[in-house]
Amino acid sequence: MSAPITPVPAGVRVRVPAKINLALCVGPPRPDGFHPLATVYQAVSLFDEIQAVWDEPGVFTVSVSGEGASQVPCDERNLALRAARLLAAKHGDGQPLGVALSIQKSIPVAGGLAGGSSNGAAALLACADLWALDVSLEQMLALAAELGSDVPFALLGGTALGGGRGEQVVPALARGSYHWVLGFGWTGLSTPAVYRTYDELRPDATKPQVPAELMAALRAGDAGRLAKALVNDLQEPAFHLQPQLRRTLETGLDYGALGGIVSGSGPTCAFLVASEAAAIDLCVALTADGVVRTARPVVGPVPGARLLG
Ligand code: ATP
Repeated sequence: MSAPITPVPAGVRVRVPAKINLALCVGPPRPDGFHPLATVYQAVSLFDEIQAVWDEPGVFTVSVSGEGASQVPCDERNLALRAARLLAAKHGDGQPLGVALSIQKSIPVAGGLAGGSSNGAAALLACADLWALDVSLEQMLALAAELGSDVPFALLGGTALGGGRGEQVVPALARGSYHWVLGFGWTGLSTPAVYRTYDELRPDATKPQVPAELMAALRAGDAGRLAKALVNDLQEPAFHLQPQLRRTLETGLDYGALGGIVSGSGPTCAFLVASEAAAIDLCVALTADGVVRTARPVVGPVPGARLLG
């Protein structure tokens, strides 16, 4: 007599990239407290993975493993869980939906790489597929914008311009592939704390605008030109909160990076280098120097959240 077959839960897996900001220009706070941004995002080849498996109707859970997992809340604050609930509420048509999400993290938490936002985007895509919901990209982008400023870009990927508070994304005219080194900080930085410091340091902030030279460098696919045009208004506030970041950037340039910038609200530093070999050399040098906890070579742009076969 053969043993009864235990059904394997049908699951969906999604891979989603981290982002860096090639330009992050910040205006004065709006009446709703958000800051208007003019930003250029690029998705890079550092990925979190999310698995979504059916659960009992009305049951929504999340578990997290990997890089920085102990710092990620597994309750209603988790962006992936919020994304699943939002999708079910807005597009579930009253069906008995439930999901168990598992997140395998490689993107450092509170690193300025939009790790949480990317998990929100991945959960939208995974659950829409798992539950076989009929949701268009426009509808998905609208839900993503509701979840957070960086979430729509994580769906789109590539290189994109971000307006509004970052949630209004359009693909940028960009050519070429770029080699980056990401230097991870020893401790995270709180995005709201960095913005508060920005407001103190820059009471004179005006309407933000991405520099034309940066867009021209991207159109030309010229890494040397791009390196000189990188700009981040949150870099000074990040230096203010973690003064050692200044030295991290200088060290990367001393070791041959074409350019370097604090990624988003930090503390990750992104260094643009000339080749894959240069990226590996710089990773070794930065790690041996001790200015970063660890360093990873990545390339950009890469696509946004994608279903894995
Ligand atoms: P951003 O650049 O979008 O401001 P970040 O990359 O600096 O964000 P995240 O990794 O998104 O930072 O984490 C910010 C906070 O979000 C964490 O401290 C954590 O408490 C919370 N969070 C909620 N859900 C997640 C998630 N799925 N993964 C990581 N952090 C999450």
